[in-house]
Amino acid sequence: MSETRVSLFLVPTPIGNLKDITLRAVEVLKTVDVILAEDTRTSGTLLKHLEITRPLQSYHIFNEHKAVEKLVERMHKGEAFALVSDAGTPAISDPGFLLVREVIAAGLEVQCLPGPTAFVPALVNSGLPNDRFVFEGFLPHKKGRKTRIDALAEETRTILFYESPHRLIKTLEQLAEVFGADRQACVSRELTKLHEENVRGTLTELIEYYETNPLKGEIVLVVAGKPEKRETREERQALKKQKWNSGD
Ligand code: SAM
Repeated sequence: MSETRVSLFLVPTPIGNLKDITLRAVEVLKTVDVILAEDTRTSGTLLKHLEITRPLQSYHIFNEHKAVEKLVERMHKGEAFALVSDAGTPAISDPGFLLVREVIAAGLEVQCLPGPTAFVPALVNSGLPNDRFVFEGFLPHKKGRKTRIDALAEETRTILFYESPHRLIKTLEQLAEVFGADRQACVSRELTKLHEENVRGTLTELIEYYETNPLKGEIVLVVAGKPEKRETREERQALKKQKWNSGD
C-alpha cells in the first residue's frame, strides 16, 4: 500500500514548556519544504532552539485570504508545507481553518499532528465532567457577546472559553448573571509554565478571588454546564403508569 503524500501538516508547538514539542513535530518540521508561521520571529526562536533550518514564510489572519490560493498552487506542484502558530495547535483560535478547508477542497492531503493545546489540560485540571464539553473559544468583545452567553443558558455540557486576563472579572460577572452565581468553574492560568495555577470555585468565589489577586498571564476559563434535571420518584412513577396504560 502506498503512503498518501501530505501537502499540509498542522504542527502544534508548546504553550509554555518547550519540552512539550513532540518528536514527530520536530521530524515533520525538519522535512517539509516550507514552514508557514503566524509570526516568523516567534517561531524563528523556537526553530533555532530545535536546530531546524527550513525556510520560513509568514501566514497570519491579515494575509490568509490572499495567501491560500498561491499556497494551494504550490502544493499541487509538489511542495509540502507545515503550518505553526505562536503557541498550541494551529487553527484552534488561531489562523489555519481557511487553509485547511481550501487544501481539502483542492483534493490534497492535510494532517494535523496531535500535541499541545491549552483547552485540553484546562478541562481535565478543572475536575468538571469532561465526557461531553463545548469549546467556545474567545467571546466577542462587544457586539454579539451577550447573545453568545445567553445562548449557553441551557447548556448542560462543560463549557470552555479562552479569555484575556483583563476581561476575566467582567466575563465571570456576565456568566454569573445568566448561569447563576453558584455555578462551579475553574480558571487555569499559565498552563505548563513555572507559575501554572488552577483556581476552582463558584463564579462568585472566583470573582472575589480575582478582585484581590490581580491576574497576569494566559488563561482558560472552564465552567460547569447547567445541572441536568433529575426526575422525582413521583415523576418516574407517573411516567411508568403512563407507559403501562398505553400498553408500551
Ligand atoms: N492555538 C492555541 C491552542 O491550541 O490552545 C490557542 C491560541 S489563542 C490565540 C491564545 C489563547 O489560548 C490565550 O489567550 C489563552 O486563552 C489560551 N492559552 C494559550 N496558552 C496558554 C497557557 N499556557 N495557559 C493558559 N491558557 C493559554
